[in-house]
Amino acid sequence: MVTANYQEIIRRIQKTCIESGRPAGSVSLVVVSKTQPAGAIRELYDLGVRDFGENRVQELLDKKDLLPADIRWHLIGSLQTNKVKYIADFIHLIHSADRPDLLAEIDKQGKKIDRVIPVLLQVRVASEETKHGCLPTELPGLVRFAAGLTNIEVKGTMTMASFTDDKEQIRDEFLRFFSVIPDSIRNRPDSLFSTGMTSDFEEAIRSGSNLVRIGSAIFGERSAPV
Ligand SMILES: *Cc1c(COP(=O)(O)O)cnc(C)c1O
Repeated sequence: MVTANYQEIIRRIQKTCIESGRPAGSVSLVVVSKTQPAGAIRELYDLGVRDFGENRVQELLDKKDLLPADIRWHLIGSLQTNKVKYIADFIHLIHSADRPDLLAEIDKQGKKIDRVIPVLLQVRVASEETKHGCLPTELPGLVRFAAGLTNIEVKGTMTMASFTDDKEQIRDEFLRFFSVIPDSIRNRPDSLFSTGMTSDFEEAIRSGSNLVRIGSAIFGERSAPV
């Protein structure tokens, strides 16, 4: 089931790319494996999938121990500064860098191990209540702050749209997300724009996303909300 779901998602991503006039391979997928057991990840790994996203550091570390070392782990959930040290030496991409103290801590841990750690700056555009992501008005300052740090590389930006059926609202939020990205990031050909989940990834791709994070459409509904 998981394999068939995965293949169907890949097909829908490619179809949406082509319908939007973009190459079929221009959008990457991070498979969101939070709450899923290592065995479910393994099934996709055996198909060749390497990018997996987790939102909790401890859960990520537990699964990492059980799975092959060439998995590219993405931290997609909010990150406490005191947890950075546990993931600094291997994390492929931190999607949720959203404040100066967190950037400073990632930089500090990167220095200790002589690694430049790739991050996305998370922006809050959803109208629903959420603590996560910097405000659009804070983004330019965060970009400048990160530019002064030697052991961080800002690869792009990330956002989550509101969890709603209102397609127009979601489209507006994605539009807002892309409109607030500073030119220095937006115009770089290799920038990553991480947005789109099970409920809205096609809209996200049409809006310009090139990195979608999808969990429940592949693994089935999670029993507990996280
Ligand atoms: C859970 C989660 C996703 C995936 O959500 P689905 O609706 O299961 O596809 C994507 N991004 C973040 C930040 C998440 O926490």
